[in-house]
Amino acid sequence: MVSIELDGVWKTFPDGIEAVRGVDLTVGSGEFVVLVGPSGCGKSTTLRMIAGLEDISRGEVRIGGRAVNNVPAKDRDIAMVFQSYALYPHMTAFENMAFGLKLRKIPRAEIRDRVHKAADVLGLSDILDRKPRSLSGGQRQRVAVGRAIVREPAAFLFDEPLSNLDAKLRVATRSEFKALSERLETTTVYVTHDQEEAMTLGDRLVVMSEGAIQQIGSPFDVFASPVNRFVAGFIGTPPMNFFRGSVTRDAEQTTFRMEPPREAPDAGVPNVAPLTLDLPGRLAAGLPEGTLSDVVLGVRPSTARVLGENEPPRPASDLELLVEVVEPLGAQMDIHGRVATGEKAIFRVDATRTVPVRSVARLRLRADQAHLFEPGDFGACLTADPSAAVMIAPAEPPPAASPRAGSARPESAQLE
Ligand code: ATP
Repeated sequence: MVSIELDGVWKTFPDGIEAVRGVDLTVGSGEFVVLVGPSGCGKSTTLRMIAGLEDISRGEVRIGGRAVNNVPAKDRDIAMVFQSYALYPHMTAFENMAFGLKLRKIPRAEIRDRVHKAADVLGLSDILDRKPRSLSGGQRQRVAVGRAIVREPAAFLFDEPLSNLDAKLRVATRSEFKALSERLETTTVYVTHDQEEAMTLGDRLVVMSEGAIQQIGSPFDVFASPVNRFVAGFIGTPPMNFFRGSVTRDAEQTTFRMEPPREAPDAGVPNVAPLTLDLPGRLAAGLPEGTLSDVVLGVRPSTARVLGENEPPRPASDLELLVEVVEPLGAQMDIHGRVATGEKAIFRVDATRTVPVRSVARLRLRADQAHLFEPGDFGACLTADPSAAVMIAPAEPPPAASPRAGSARPESAQLE
């Protein structure tokens, strides 16, 4: 087991694209860290620089304390599993798993031993003599993982290994992955764009956007205390609702007020009451006294309940929503609609009440679980506990990249 450290790592491609901008990250020995973010945010490039499949434009990558910027992929003692399993079609599952060991001239008896052990861990013992074409997607994927395990590497790197599987298999294989990683206790960096997968697998998540780390934290920290609006909107299903407005703090009370509608009700803005929400003192602690006229309230879809017809209103915590779509999910349902500003919102509530489409639903919000953000897509959280997470901003642009000539060998072979 080794630690993996990235110190001010940048990647600028020859065409000038800055795919990774000043990433600082330490993955502890035996830790399972997930890099997560939308397509194009630089997570694969980061992983490939750790693997040695991509040159580093600036900064340093250390594996087990040793700088590896100039160490070829095959000498880094790491194993990588790609999205495409890249199994050799003419070889059996056993031969596919044994191939890398044969190349390294490991004695036959030891190869057999290692392959059988890995097959046992992965539940592949009965299919070792089968070729990839007669295996299911999930089994092929496990053979690819087995090929990595038999090498007994110091660390594993996974690049979206489950994304070729259908939704059901992906969820099942995800649980297997978790059990496996807990058993192997090998340092692992795992890349996915799927925030649910990231939440279930990682000891820690590294949320990336536009080549930079936005937040590092446990799945709970990142969900409960997002440092900015990007993280708040990216982590969580359905995504967090955002409402524009202002917040006023005086000695007695802190109150969010939804921005008054910009258009008349007949211009597509529903004729419902704008929200006024009293915030508990804990959330107000970091706010200045007086009024901030341009803020964004963040409300998770699961932090509200639908009020019954006879329940008395509580003006400083009830939200009115013009219901547009109701999606039953069994015990719960998703209510989609619009609030007074015309902004869209979604709430996941118990399916115990009937909520007709085109009616005005009254929802009681959990003010203690709300968040306030500065305006803009990356607006900082004004109510976050700063000790709960790390916000890392890129420093300065790197000097021009000086790429080495790339290798023509396939990527999995470069790591054998
Ligand atoms: P995805 O989930 O779609 O794989 P990602 O977060 O892994 O996305 P990267 O593949 O790391 O993102 O790409 C980051 C950025 O770098 C993107 O803008 C991408 O187009 C660009 N990029 C990646 N590889 C190259 C390359 N070889 N040459 C030029 N630009 C590249």
